[in-house]
Amino acid sequence: MSTQLLVPFTEGDRSMSALLGGKGANLAEMTRLGLPVPPGFTITTEACREFMAHGSPPPELTAMVTDALRDLEWRSGQMFGSASDPLLVSVRSGARFSMPGMMETVLNVGLTDVTLPGLVARGGARFAWDCYRRLVQMFGHTVLGIDASRFEDLLSKARAATGASDDAGLDAATLADLVGEFRSVLVSHTGQDLPQDPREQLDRAVTAVFASWDSPRARVYRAHERIPDDLGTAVNVVAMVYGNTGPRSGSGVCFTRNPATGKAEAYGDYLANAQGEDVVNGSRTTLPLSALAGLEPAAHAELLDHLRTLERHYRDLCDVEFTIEDSRLWVLQTRVGKRSPAAAFRIAADLSEEGLISLDEALGRVDGHQLESLLHPRFDAAAGHEPLASGLPASPGASVGEAVFDPATAVVRAAEGRPCVLVRTETSPDDVDGIIAAVAVVTARGGLTSHAAVVARGLGRTCVTSVSGLDVDESQRLAVLADGHRIEEGDLLSVDGTSGHVYAGRLRVTPSPVYAAMAGREPTSPAADDESTARAVRLLLAHADRVRHLRVRANAETPAEAREARALGAEGIGLCRTEHMLLGARRELVERVVVDDRRTEALAEIERLAMEDFTELLTAMDGLPVVVRLLDPPLHEFLPDLVELSVRVAAEGARGLVEPALAARLAAVRRWHEQNPMLGLRGVRLLTVIPELVDAHVRALVSAAAVLRQQGLDPRPEIMVPLVADVAELALARRRVEVTLEQVATTRHTVDCPVGVMIELPRAALTAGALAGEAEFFSFGTNDLTQTTWGISRDDAEAGFLTSYREAGLLADDPFTRLDETGVGELILIAVDRGRVARPDLGLGACGEHAGDPESIAFLAGAGLDYVSCSPPRVPVARLEAGRAAVRPSEAGDTR
Ligand code: ADP
Ligand code: MG
Ligand code: MG
Repeated sequence: MSTQLLVPFTEGDRSMSALLGGKGANLAEMTRLGLPVPPGFTITTEACREFMAHGSPPPELTAMVTDALRDLEWRSGQMFGSASDPLLVSVRSGARFSMPGMMETVLNVGLTDVTLPGLVARGGARFAWDCYRRLVQMFGHTVLGIDASRFEDLLSKARAATGASDDAGLDAATLADLVGEFRSVLVSHTGQDLPQDPREQLDRAVTAVFASWDSPRARVYRAHERIPDDLGTAVNVVAMVYGNTGPRSGSGVCFTRNPATGKAEAYGDYLANAQGEDVVNGSRTTLPLSALAGLEPAAHAELLDHLRTLERHYRDLCDVEFTIEDSRLWVLQTRVGKRSPAAAFRIAADLSEEGLISLDEALGRVDGHQLESLLHPRFDAAAGHEPLASGLPASPGASVGEAVFDPATAVVRAAEGRPCVLVRTETSPDDVDGIIAAVAVVTARGGLTSHAAVVARGLGRTCVTSVSGLDVDESQRLAVLADGHRIEEGDLLSVDGTSGHVYAGRLRVTPSPVYAAMAGREPTSPAADDESTARAVRLLLAHADRVRHLRVRANAETPAEAREARALGAEGIGLCRTEHMLLGARRELVERVVVDDRRTEALAEIERLAMEDFTELLTAMDGLPVVVRLLDPPLHEFLPDLVELSVRVAAEGARGLVEPALAARLAAVRRWHEQNPMLGLRGVRLLTVIPELVDAHVRALVSAAAVLRQQGLDPRPEIMVPLVADVAELALARRRVEVTLEQVATTRHTVDCPVGVMIELPRAALTAGALAGEAEFFSFGTNDLTQTTWGISRDDAEAGFLTSYREAGLLADDPFTRLDETGVGELILIAVDRGRVARPDLGLGACGEHAGDPESIAFLAGAGLDYVSCSPPRVPVARLEAGRAAVRPSEAGDTR
């Protein structure tokens, strides 16, 4: 068995992230690049998997760690357990996929009553006691599982007693007292003091990191990010370097570019005299990276140099953790950094223009979800609202929700379908499920690299941090602002993560500037960052358009929708739902046709109105295909409610006079009433009972096209027959359409009008070969195909059991949002195969929600479809995803 349980930094590289975890692989890579990384080694994920399997670390590990420690001692010139010059280490988790803040870290491991004097000799008593205080605290929390607040409470008491504004203001004596108090907490909670054997500290910390892989919050994060539960985490053991020896030391976090806007300049936070998480947990106000240039110019210049090296090497935005010990720079971590959607586009576009990556690669670095969020509306800045409070714009977005002050309430509200804004002093890893549940996060503390900011950006939640004067009292479910304004639980807040403003109440929203730019409209507030984002989006969309094979059409009924869709790049209409043209006041016309009340007049009126609509629609899409679906309503939607009508008739009957017209109406509604309209008289089935209604639409369409052709335009109508189960139905519909076509052709210009069929029943998919004989094209109606394949009524299920199915783990994805590749996808592949065999030049498209869903588009592209059709605002998303599918074709549906 050649498992690798331990790998020194000098022997790994970044390709080994499955074994070393991301953090370990990158530490090894930076060591190879010659960056100043403290010596260290990685205990592998393999060791963690053995731990999970057996409940204890593999026995061989003990000797390996001993050897590796000896190597660290040699490299650092210090001895683990030495009283004069002790080696201390950090014990850090690091899984294969970055899970910010999910796993635990213990710093200063190896510090005991015996080794403490050696640390005093190195940096003074205050520094040494500060390290000891941190070790007892982290060991107590992470290894022994003591609630973090136990230590925090003692710390804040000590601050209050000494008048210190933050922990950095506590002196050696106070810190020494705190160590004593912390150790008493350990003893009273667990019966054990901090182990005084350095090796026992190390071994127990390693085991605790392994065990933290299975903590509830790690599981929540993995479930959300679809990270498998069986990967395990690696553990990195790193020689300590100290940012807390005094003013010439400090810790920082930085990005090679701005992670919120994507602007190409290093961005970060720095805190003098600080260790570890101080800089990200928001307990002290950080300095911008630029301020470091004044404090430590040489270290600052060296850092910028390393940032450039890393960005060129990784060819992407990197984030970096660093520490300065007595003016000397150490790099402690790097990874490809999380970024906002706007930054993702801008960085990908910029890196391709800088020649670091190809345009294909750039396309692979952005996705449809990100684009979608950029196209989302924003708050109407022009309305001139006064913000309630302002902070740092940590993660862009415009979200409105009820204020809540703890993650558990956020989770409950979200489950009730009530959007909420999580308001916190600062967030910690325990808040992750609350952040997932909330639409926005607002914190009093923390910078752009704080926990709240990093997690919110990764999840695409709106976030504002560092709201000055915000005082959150979780126990009272209340926050008070500097001016005394009170925010209570349930108060509506509008959070603008782009400007950093928080407003009371619900603000009006306007289209996003990126959307406006794409649709060719004037943006309301053209800011420089918005323009750069819009430019990057255009650049990458243009590339997507060049490489994609899949065409993108829109689902549209009104001329306004059609024009908007075309402006957003739609290449035709893939689905015009004629029944949508009969809503509102026109409804009554359908009712008259159905109950046979002056039917001929009503039909003529329907045809006249439809011709007007089609004329406008074909004009807006001149030169591009417009697929008109024959009428497909569940008929009851057009008729009065049976119960209501019965009550009216009964009431009139009680007074002794029921009007004959009303009685006839009730009779008709009774006749058409269905127990299960979803499987009832819809689609092509209407042809057998009210074919005149269908004829009216066909005549209107081809007449409109004929008139436009006469006027020199280029209308391209197509007709699509819905809900076909058998070829005989299609043949009937086709003949009927052809008759109408001929009638119109005798009086006006001839119009070519292909006839196609919607594939939305399993039987249609299976008999696709026969259907192709009667159809020039197929269009997969994936909404109904999903309903009928699963036998689930979407409207009923989404309010009902789909949620409990997801909770019970029976269903990973909602099949109505993400195409079910296994079942519905298989039917699509079968229909494509059989259809194309019967008719090689068969046109193939898809319409339905899935046609706008990024993952589903990749599948449909791989299935060999010619086009997808989605709602107009999603057209750019579909263009982008079609492009992405073209540059990584192997992931799509053509894997058979
Ligand atoms: P996370 O995964 O939450 O970023 P890390 O393992 O990176 O946790 O460690 C937490 C903090 O401790 C970070 O700020 C890191 O830079 C710091 N740190 C880790 N190892 C050392 C070390 N050997 N010397 C000094 N600081 C360290
Ligand atoms: Mg952490
Ligand atoms: Mg880190």
